[in-house]
Amino acid sequence: MRTIQKLRFSYTGCVAKLFIIVCFFIANQVAAQTVIEKIVQEETKNSQLQTMAHELLDGIGPRLVGTPQMKKANDWAVEKYASWGIAARNEQWGEWKGWERGITHIDMLSPRVKSLEGTQLSWSPSTKGKAVKAEIVIIPDVADSLAFVNWLPTVKGKFVMISMNQPTGRPDDNWQQFATKESFDKLKKERTEMTDAWRKRLSKTGHSSRMLPIVLEKAGALGILTNNWSNGFGVDKIFNAYTTKIPTVDIALEDYGTLYRLVESGDNPIISIQTDSKDLGTVPNFNTIAEIKGTEKPDEYVMLSAHFDSWDAGQGATDNGTGTLTMMEAMRILKLVYPNPKRTILVGHWGSEEQGLNGSRAFVEDHPEVVDKLQALFNQDNGTGRIVNISGQGFKYAGEFITRWLAAVPSNMKDSIKTTFPGSPGGGGSDYASFVAVGAPGFSLGALNWSYFNYTWHTNRDTYDKIIFDDLKNNAMLTAMLVYMACEDNATFPRDKVDLGTNKLTGQPIQWPAQGKAMRKGPIAPTN
Ligand SMILES: [Zn+2]
Repeated sequence: MRTIQKLRFSYTGCVAKLFIIVCFFIANQVAAQTVIEKIVQEETKNSQLQTMAHELLDGIGPRLVGTPQMKKANDWAVEKYASWGIAARNEQWGEWKGWERGITHIDMLSPRVKSLEGTQLSWSPSTKGKAVKAEIVIIPDVADSLAFVNWLPTVKGKFVMISMNQPTGRPDDNWQQFATKESFDKLKKERTEMTDAWRKRLSKTGHSSRMLPIVLEKAGALGILTNNWSNGFGVDKIFNAYTTKIPTVDIALEDYGTLYRLVESGDNPIISIQTDSKDLGTVPNFNTIAEIKGTEKPDEYVMLSAHFDSWDAGQGATDNGTGTLTMMEAMRILKLVYPNPKRTILVGHWGSEEQGLNGSRAFVEDHPEVVDKLQALFNQDNGTGRIVNISGQGFKYAGEFITRWLAAVPSNMKDSIKTTFPGSPGGGGSDYASFVAVGAPGFSLGALNWSYFNYTWHTNRDTYDKIIFDDLKNNAMLTAMLVYMACEDNATFPRDKVDLGTNKLTGQPIQWPAQGKAMRKGPIAPTN
């Protein structure tokens, strides 16, 4: 009897408990649904993405580490966050060579007059306010490094071309569409042979591609001409100069080819180059960090992440203006619809990702209290497209957690996302890797490609007009939703790693990626 009574009592208790749990569950679902709906409404009716893109990309411009534009962007972001009532700060993590890009003018004067399309590489020295006129020589195909030393005095008083002349300025998909198969095959074969021969030509000088411009500079050359074609119409990748006194410029394929053929045919073209730039000594570098304090678990963190810096021949629009704007917009919306998060929400806008994830690596080194209590970090950095890939980065339980977080996302946004669980840990490529390396849950929100690698990534055409704002809106909403769900999750993300198996070639166990050290002072001059 007693047993029965107890059973009955406990049965009633169970029903009551179950009722409370169900009510709580439904209430949570309703709350989640409300927040999700509010996120969609805010972004649909009141998106700030275009306004911010214009201010950042047209107004401030590209954000090369060490430039005044980078610092201007850091300050702009802090002000934006302040205007939304979000606490933000610039955290210094290192120093870099300070440099400000000025004008680049490259003109052909002979055999006819034409202004050429080209620009100085990042950190190129200036021509001190005047245009330098000279003939051009092409780096020769010498027998060996001794022959190169004998040839070297030839460069005195001349510009030197050190890049191969491309056999076509048309991208492969254009050939694919219109050429006969024989013709396209022939082109590819020729190009492979030419590329190989050019690599040998450079290596026979006895110098690396980094040292060669420095050697030419020391021998009295007046400037270095390069063409780093990015396999598309009108696109070149623009990286840094290694010269310290004479300008290094990239000339667009069409004009580079013209000059190259004129030199080869003995027409002896003469060009003039003026590069203005300012050497600003050594300047401090910053990460911009913004924060919405958690209420229940303020010392646990969910992070939004995107590098803020860029290369500087375009506007750094898709690398990584779009990731930056996605995270800022997600923060703005979260502050409106979820102002009292369970865990603390942080966003990291990193400096100097392009030179080796330096800002995020420095943050990992400087903020163990955040890294140790990181619930999840969402990074976006591969262009303007809709997010379609999420990997579990080799964390054993990533599938369980991320699936739960994605459950709240409307199906029109999540159905095209391909998830890979548990996946394998990313060793580099962008800032999430700085966190993964120390075993903290950093995830990459992988976007659709939109011809990123040829047309915008590190190119002179990475500009506002390439942004797909509908995709960006989708990404800002998705990020806000994932952050919200990760903040609310009752469970803490476990850091167990999967067994990565054995390397088939070496027979050795595959290692988790090692932590990279932040370069706190740059750039480092090449030594070989
Ligand atoms: Zn990037």
